Amino acid sequence: KLYNQVQDLKGNIRVYCRVRPFLPGQSNLSTVGHIDDGSITILTPPKYGKEGHKSFTFNKVFGPFATQEEVFSDTQPLIRSVLDGYNVCIFAYGQTGAGKTYTMSGPKVLTEQSFGVNYRALNDLFHISKERKDTFCYEISVQMIEIYNEQVRDLLASDDIRNSSQTGFAVPDANSVPVTSTTEVIELMDIGQKNRAVSATSMNDRSSRSHSCLTIHVQGRELASGVVVRGCMHLVDLAGSERVNKSEVKGDRLKEAQHINKSLAALGDVISALAQKSSHIPYRNSKLTQLLQDSLGGQAKTLMFVHISPEVDAVSETLSTLKFAERVA
Ligand code: ADP
Ligand code: MG
Repeated sequence: KLYNQVQDLKGNIRVYCRVRPFLPGQSNLSTVGHIDDGSITILTPPKYGKEGHKSFTFNKVFGPFATQEEVFSDTQPLIRSVLDGYNVCIFAYGQTGAGKTYTMSGPKVLTEQSFGVNYRALNDLFHISKERKDTFCYEISVQMIEIYNEQVRDLLASDDIRNSSQTGFAVPDANSVPVTSTTEVIELMDIGQKNRAVSATSMNDRSSRSHSCLTIHVQGRELASGVVVRGCMHLVDLAGSERVNKSEVKGDRLKEAQHINKSLAALGDVISALAQKSSHIPYRNSKLTQLLQDSLGGQAKTLMFVHISPEVDAVSETLSTLKFAERVA
């Protein structure tokens, strides 16, 4: 409740920045200067362009030692609002390797401590819906899609997945699978990940060049009144935001890069138009914003995690990531 009021005051868009730690074997020369709760300063050494430092302000900044639990605890109020009938979008933005998948899902080898936002969100959804079982009856279903080169692919369109009669309202043509526990969803996500891998041809890392979106639909019926509330949550692991050098890539790789640039720019345009309460919101400029239209704007809540790497080599991507994020914040 309190959070919803705060959101109403501050608007429905929040932007959090997360800095990943150095990885084993990386030299410890950092581009991150000062971090506090809501701001971060980036230092550029002379060798990497114009020497200087620049500060950016966000709703929150998570430093390299922030745990998955800490990151999620700020996300948690959004989960409750889904059960209350709100639509929520959570995006992970940043260059490849900056930690998007880590935030959304976790590291490759998962432990309870390293669970990312999506597992924790589902755990909470099931947990709260059980808590409310004397007053509400909830039905929860999931969809998983990938957007690659502006084409949508249903990652759960497989024969071994039970089909649901319920039609999803965000991605009309994608299979929507009813679920009753986090374990079931983890199994589905594994299937989704495998389906994603199948289409990877010569590309070694498809995941960094497509957007993947896990959508959770919640329908709650109040037992006493029969009133039905519907909410949904989209958890989007975006394609890597790094710019490719046009002189170095050609053909398919260039086409991919152009699609990614265009769709990330379109997402930025939509969110910044919403933040500025503009009368025209340009949803139609990309597949992603078209699909998420009902969950971006209006009463819906949006959370963007922007990820940066601390390495000095990444400084120019880091600055462009933070500039993108500042525009939507
Ligand atoms: P992206 O999805 O943006 O390409 P990843 O999430 O795959 O990046 O992260 C790249 C590497 O860094 C992975 O090995 C991941 O486990 C590790 N990593 C990312 N963020 C963190 C973090 N906050 N703490 C520890 N390791 C991290
Ligand atoms: Mg990733």
